[in-house]
Amino acid sequence: MEYRILPRGAEKISALGLGTSSLGQAGEKEAEETIALALEEGINYFDMASADAVPFPAFGRATAGCRKKVYFQVHFGAEYHTGTYGWTLSLDAIKRSIDWQLKNLKTDYIDFGFIHCIDEEADLQGMLSEGTLDYIQQLKKEGVIRHIGLSSHTPGIANKVLDMDLIDMLMFSINPAYDYRHGDYAIGSVDERADLYRRCEAEGVGISVMKAFAGGQLLNEKTSPFGRALSEYQCLQYVLDKPAVLTVVPGVRDRADLRRILRFFDAAPEEKDYSILGSLAPKDAEGVCVYCNHCQPCPAGLDVGLINKYYDLALAGDALAKSHYANLEKKAADCTACGHCDSRCPFHVDQARRMAEIRSYFGK
Ligand code: SF4
Ligand code: SF4
Repeated sequence: MEYRILPRGAEKISALGLGTSSLGQAGEKEAEETIALALEEGINYFDMASADAVPFPAFGRATAGCRKKVYFQVHFGAEYHTGTYGWTLSLDAIKRSIDWQLKNLKTDYIDFGFIHCIDEEADLQGMLSEGTLDYIQQLKKEGVIRHIGLSSHTPGIANKVLDMDLIDMLMFSINPAYDYRHGDYAIGSVDERADLYRRCEAEGVGISVMKAFAGGQLLNEKTSPFGRALSEYQCLQYVLDKPAVLTVVPGVRDRADLRRILRFFDAAPEEKDYSILGSLAPKDAEGVCVYCNHCQPCPAGLDVGLINKYYDLALAGDALAKSHYANLEKKAADCTACGHCDSRCPFHVDQARRMAEIRSYFGK
């Protein structure tokens, strides 16, 4: 398992987390065994926005002996009193739901307390006027919540909450379809979305990714907005390459789903290579480096994707990006403008020109 560090807190979070939206489908026994398998395989990050109440007691039992090693992302606004998921802004309902969730998870603290699924300004105002944020902040003061987070599909709302300097983690829907403006949750322009990821990295806010497969649409050529299916591994690699992303939480139904997803870490680089996107979304993707490193190997030894990522992050105000860049063995100044990467890049980035730009920005 690969682990990534939460900048505001230093927790080591598994790059592959677990979404629980479909976990209840196979029943409580299979849910518990799937959680046990996830723990065995080193997964330690669990998103608790489930479609039903089934996973909660299963988690309570499965994590009873290892609570300190797992992180629960719990949503203030998801409730389960009917047995299935409901979205609410009502503070009373939220309090009841949090008490119920803690009891069933057999815990008295929440690692990541999330303001749940706020996509519109009116909902943000509703959540504030209900006093939910005050409640969350009070729980944080009392030590019940360790970190505050937000889940949203809307860059504008995420930016508003980032302006409040409250959150350590953002749950956001990221996949190639949404980033290139295809699908219901494809909110925000290509640039606005990319700027949000960079802002999070610059401000030390981690991202946990939901909807990495666009609800499964991307996995089937009949439903893929590109008219061509991508694989789970391509989608996972795509989101894990985005700035600020610490973990992706795909939903699994059972152990078979989980085993298939876990093979991502052993998959050959070609199975994860998503550079095909360069030909699927040419207009949107044209000329913008997505850090995929399909252009490797550079004859001069440059890590083209990483150099581009640090440059974009530095432009976005990430103070650490400059020192990360300074630590690179090979820098833009080492580029010989040989044109190899330009000829290989499916996104038609004029990389030789960009390396010159990066060199003049960072200096030698
Ligand atoms: S230059 Fe092209 S191939 Fe190379 S990392 Fe950037 S997007 Fe990928
Ligand atoms: S143009 Fe520069 S970055 Fe690209 S392959 Fe050649 S030396 Fe490497």
